[in-house]
Amino acid sequence: MLENKVKESIRDVVDFPKEGIVFKDITPILENTVLTAEIADAFVERSKSLKPDAILGIESRGFFWGILIAQKMGIPFIPVRKKGKLPYKTISYKYDLEYGSAEIEMHEDAVSKGMNVLIHDDLLATGGTAMAAAELVKSQGANVVGFSFLVNLTFLKGDQRLLPYSHQIISLVNY
Ligand code: AMP
Repeated sequence: MLENKVKESIRDVVDFPKEGIVFKDITPILENTVLTAEIADAFVERSKSLKPDAILGIESRGFFWGILIAQKMGIPFIPVRKKGKLPYKTISYKYDLEYGSAEIEMHEDAVSKGMNVLIHDDLLATGGTAMAAAELVKSQGANVVGFSFLVNLTFLKGDQRLLPYSHQIISLVNY
C-alpha cells in the first residue's frame, strides 16, 4: 500500500525547527525514483476529477510534486513563495503557522479571474499556509477547486480551516 511505503520513507526529526515539533522530513522519499513517481501518479489520479486549470505549489516542498503533477496533467504550475523572493509585481498574505508567523506571495498576473486552481503542499499542519494560498487565489477572482498534500497531520485539524474554501482535501498519508 502506497501510504505504508511513504510512511517508511518519512524521517521524524524531533525538536526541529524548535522544541516540541516533530518535523516530518520527506527528503528521503526523493532518493527513491520509483516511489517519487508513484506519489505523483497517485496525486494525478486523485486530482483529475477536480479538473484544475493550474496547480499552485507552496515554497519550497510544495514544488517537489507540484511541478510533477502539473506536468503530468498538462497544466501550468504557479509558484507561491515566501515574501521577497518573487521578482515581479506581487500580492501577499500574512498568516500564523505551527511555529511562528509568515507571509507568502504570488505574482499578481499568475492567476486570472475564473481560473480553477488546485493548491498543493507537502504537509498540512494547522492549515494556515494553505489558507493563505487560498486567500491569494480568491483575491484574484479565481476558484479553489481543492487542496492536495502528501501528509496530513490530522490531529491538528488543519482541514477544518480549509473547508470554507473547498471540501476537496486530498492527502496520501495521514497521521
Ligand atoms: P501549517 O501552515 O501549520 O499547515 O504548516 C504547513 C507548512 O509548514 C507546510 O509548508 C509544511 O512544510 C510546514 N510544516 C509544518 N509543520 C510541519 C511538520 N511537523 N513537519 C514538516 N513540515 C511542517
